[in-house]
Amino acid sequence: MTLAIGIDVGGTKLLGGIVDEDGKILARIRKDTPKEGGTALTDRVADLVRELMAQSPSPITKVGLSAAGFVSADRQTMLAPPNIAGWTGVNLGKELKERLGLDVIVENDANAAAWGEYKFGSGKGSTHAILLILGTGLGGGIILNGELYRGAYGTAGELGHMRLVIDGQLCGCGARGCFEQYSAGPALLRHAREGIAAAPERAFDLLKRGDGTAAGLTGAHLTAAAKDGDRLALSAFTITGEWLGLGIASIVVAFDPDLIIISGGLVEAGDFLLEPARGALERAASFSGHPLPRIVPAQLGNDAGLVGVADLARQ
Ligand SMILES: [Zn+2]
Repeated sequence: MTLAIGIDVGGTKLLGGIVDEDGKILARIRKDTPKEGGTALTDRVADLVRELMAQSPSPITKVGLSAAGFVSADRQTMLAPPNIAGWTGVNLGKELKERLGLDVIVENDANAAAWGEYKFGSGKGSTHAILLILGTGLGGGIILNGELYRGAYGTAGELGHMRLVIDGQLCGCGARGCFEQYSAGPALLRHAREGIAAAPERAFDLLKRGDGTAAGLTGAHLTAAAKDGDRLALSAFTITGEWLGLGIASIVVAFDPDLIIISGGLVEAGDFLLEPARGALERAASFSGHPLPRIVPAQLGNDAGLVGVADLARQ
């Protein structure tokens, strides 16, 4: 059995693990991400790999690193990490090889998570699966014919920036009307606040969950309220889910997947989000009678990126 190490680099923490060929994590270590990023972060990643190697029952030669942002087509250089200082344009493959004497591959975090879910989570048995991660943004990863689709320049799968609305909400990417402006965490909160503004007399129970203001509400408050049957919270999930289904309809036209896997914080609301998405997909689907993909929740949670990138390193 070939073991591999996966490292998931987040804005505040580094998760590392030894992963076997069944996607099982045999050991894991967590460290803080140094705020200054750059060389300090590269050094800490190398330390993390060495510590995991020392714990491994057999020698390890395969290491993968996942992080948010564009990665070069040769899987070596971080092009534009949004949450990490001092890594733009850094050839991590080279820098880590100098420190560790090993080849390391770098992969976009959503791509890595898509591979993890496809191989070891909800995607088992699928051949054409798309992962959508609904968190502070909307990340995507595409598996076609059992392979991770990376595009000509390594940047495929940025599905959150498909444009759904002409002249819509301004997005962090600089465009307007992107999918993630309608169906990620901030959109859920916006839909809830719009509901509160329209019917403040119905918002009393919901607002009590936070600090009493619409601005103080979080996604966790909305999920808990939806589970208790709160109408405003349920409505916010319905609207967000319907936008999700509409975006998926466009994805289906482009890729004809058999499976759509939803992960990220919003999926904790389960069918409150997914049922409206399924309904909206059926209504919005082009070509009636064409088979539609199943829409299912992810299974691996925060481990998907680590497990996925370790396995990609082993490919
Ligand atoms: Zn955008």
